Amino acid sequence: MRYERRVMQAVIFDWGGTLTPWHNADFDEMWRAYARAYAPDRAEDLTAALIEAERLVWQRARDHQVSGTLDDLLESVGVSPHGDRHEAGLAAYQEFWAPHTLLDADAPGLLTKLRSAGIRVGVLSNTLWTRAYHEEVFRRDGVLDLFDGAVYSSEIPWTKPHPEAFRAALRAIGDPDPQATAFVGDRLYDDIWGAQQVGMRTIFLPHSAIPAQQRGHTDGTPDATVQRLAEITDVVSRWHD
Ligand SMILES: [Mg+2]
Repeated sequence: MRYERRVMQAVIFDWGGTLTPWHNADFDEMWRAYARAYAPDRAEDLTAALIEAERLVWQRARDHQVSGTLDDLLESVGVSPHGDRHEAGLAAYQEFWAPHTLLDADAPGLLTKLRSAGIRVGVLSNTLWTRAYHEEVFRRDGVLDLFDGAVYSSEIPWTKPHPEAFRAALRAIGDPDPQATAFVGDRLYDDIWGAQQVGMRTIFLPHSAIPAQQRGHTDGTPDATVQRLAEITDVVSRWHD
């Protein structure tokens, strides 16, 4: 694809597998941790129900780009996302997740460099989690203040690759020109194909083992592929002219 000469204005990042390295964790154990804390007397039944509920949420996201929340998912299997039992379950769930939410070591330096070059920085994540939780994770890793804006699908009706999700992310960082905005992601459908539908340039990180059932109907062809986040400043510099 050919682009007019222009100055790059912004870079928007996916979160899981992009700003955090991809982990092949046993996510059934995540639900088992929740279920054991919430309902120890029927933990295995609840675990199975939660696994199936999450499968349906992401199937709906893939096929219809409809977003969901953790609270909705829990309520769909008769769990009340309020009160002490839920708080205990959520704490166990988040404890399971903590090592998988750690920021890529390249990220703080990259974000700082982009910002000092006058480039706006954003996040667009397909997620069931609240903004508060994502911000807590970014704060823990010292980068919360390095983002100009973020959109979490749990707060909007759509998921990537719906164009409205990308437009919401552009608005969140002051509406840069999509053609002067790069989207960085680890999924060829949700991230690369999706961002290209709104005219963004795309940078692919090819290290995630995306499960077959999470693949979409189209693989986008990225404008650039990098092996690590630190290479992104060079890509963006090349696109400056
Ligand atoms: Mg990802």
